[in-house]
Amino acid sequence: AEASLRQAQKMEAVGQLTGGLAHDFNNLLAGISGSLELTQVRLAQGRFNDVDRYMAAAQGAARRAAALTHRLLAFSRRQTLDPKPTDVNRLVFGMEELIRRTIGPSIELETVGAAGLWPALVDGSQLENALLNLCINARDAMPDGGRITIETANKWLDRWTADHHTIPDGQYLSLCVTDTGTGMTPEVIARVFEPFFTTKPIGAGTGLGLSMIYGFAHQSGGQVRIYSEVGQGTTVCIYLPRHQGEGEVVEPLPAPAELPRA
Ligand code: ADP
Repeated sequence: AEASLRQAQKMEAVGQLTGGLAHDFNNLLAGISGSLELTQVRLAQGRFNDVDRYMAAAQGAARRAAALTHRLLAFSRRQTLDPKPTDVNRLVFGMEELIRRTIGPSIELETVGAAGLWPALVDGSQLENALLNLCINARDAMPDGGRITIETANKWLDRWTADHHTIPDGQYLSLCVTDTGTGMTPEVIARVFEPFFTTKPIGAGTGLGLSMIYGFAHQSGGQVRIYSEVGQGTTVCIYLPRHQGEGEVVEPLPAPAELPRA
């Protein structure tokens, strides 16, 4: 959990860094947009005298924007995954205290670990990051308090069988975080995986949490699903590939009640 805390602090620093980059990037885009608009006006008037200057400005801004994205890519490439057979129940219980500290006393935390949960083949520390991120999003959606439920299951949670036909049977387990918060409109749901998409005030959100989780899940051979209703709350499920080592005996995992508590 100490490593997770350090990682969380690192994530916050990274969030500030990337948030700053996003801001700079937006400024450059605004510059490009403005130059193009001025050009359009001049062309419509049949006056070409300043068009050169505007185009040069747009080009310069585009070059700087490209340099910024290279910095971001250089950062993201350092996040190489190290997938290992992982007991996701244990991982959740190990994170409980850190999550409690992060969400504060006005939010209840419930963890429901499936008995006999399959091991996942996943990078555990990246999954810890993802889980913490989901809990921070859940907290931010409940300014007046509420409840966060963290739930694991083989395949999917029973209540969603109908929606989850696109997840192949027997190959995935799920880690879902549910909150009783504001929920999301369909318009927001459609955009949440876009990098830098945020509805939070400048400085509060980077808009990178869910896009990084999306990238991590897909790089791991898994998926992400969102269920949300305005005024009801949100569930985000990460689907992880089941570890099925050839010729390897996978010990059945104990029921959650037998797991050591953090
Ligand atoms: P950030 O949290 O920095 O805004 P994310 O990518 O994690 O970036 O989330 C993007 C947006 O998705 C948030 O700004 C918010 O509008 C919405 N969102 C994410 N999680 C939730 C949630 N649990 N409840 C309501 N809205 C959410």
